[in-house]
Amino acid sequence: MNRDRGRAPAGVQGLLRPVPTMPRGGRGVVLKTAHDLECMRQAGRITALALRAARDVIRPGVTTADIDAAAAEVLRKHGAQAAFLGYGQPPFPAVTTVSVNEELVHGIPGRRRLVEGDIVSVDCGAVVEGYVGDAAFTWGVGEVSELASRLMRVTLAALWAGIAQMRPGKRTGDISAAIQQCVEGAGFNVVREYTGHGVGRQMHEDPMVPNYGTAGKGLLLRPGMTIALEPMVLAGSPETAVLEDRWTVVAADGSLTAHFEHTVAVTEGGPWVLTDQEPGLDESAGIGYNEYFAGPAAAPGTERKPS
Ligand code: MG
Ligand code: MG
Repeated sequence: MNRDRGRAPAGVQGLLRPVPTMPRGGRGVVLKTAHDLECMRQAGRITALALRAARDVIRPGVTTADIDAAAAEVLRKHGAQAAFLGYGQPPFPAVTTVSVNEELVHGIPGRRRLVEGDIVSVDCGAVVEGYVGDAAFTWGVGEVSELASRLMRVTLAALWAGIAQMRPGKRTGDISAAIQQCVEGAGFNVVREYTGHGVGRQMHEDPMVPNYGTAGKGLLLRPGMTIALEPMVLAGSPETAVLEDRWTVVAADGSLTAHFEHTVAVTEGGPWVLTDQEPGLDESAGIGYNEYFAGPAAAPGTERKPS
């Protein structure tokens, strides 16, 4: 899966597309057919199931490896490949990235035990018949602080603010600006070094979609474009660093971070969230959880699926 044409800072190959430049033109963007989108929906559905399984094991005392194992089991059961396993250099050793508190993205699952009050971000990519689904969420371990709770809500709201822009005639800058305004309006910061990205038969395709930008600028959105939107938000300074494991990206100032992501298609009927969970499934799982998978009522004009 190491086909990312971007280059990460500090010699690290990211699972997220790093930002060498702003999105350029329409070249390299792969428009998907209706068949492609149905296949991507299958990959997205299994990604959602894996994340749900990961979410369901999160509690004080479990290790980040336990979370990874729960997601891996879902992929195995459905015959899906893991987009992250073996990705990059050094090869990523797990099915999910699990990032705790100040770890923003790309945390390597392992022996770390979660404690009450942690917030944990899980990112997963499932590959089904060559099509990739890419999604992530952040979840609290037991009771979390007011700040942590607000950070997660704002990051999720930013994701849906971006999704609401995924319509023909809008531009990538509209997505970026919507995310940035939501985050900065709440007093938090977006990451600069990592971005959302096109996704399809490759985990990283054009266009890059930064979490900051100018409305009305960037690439014109057209039906058949599929983008993984992923606000990565820091409660403190936007600066990041990479740990010695050459993967884990942390807030340079040690502040709390959150990350939500969905793979979304632009269609004539509006945005189609391909990594949404199936309607009606697990409706009792909690408001924030359902908001992530089904979308908050506060995202006006955003349909679950195009008509
Ligand atoms: Mg992604
Ligand atoms: Mg991801």
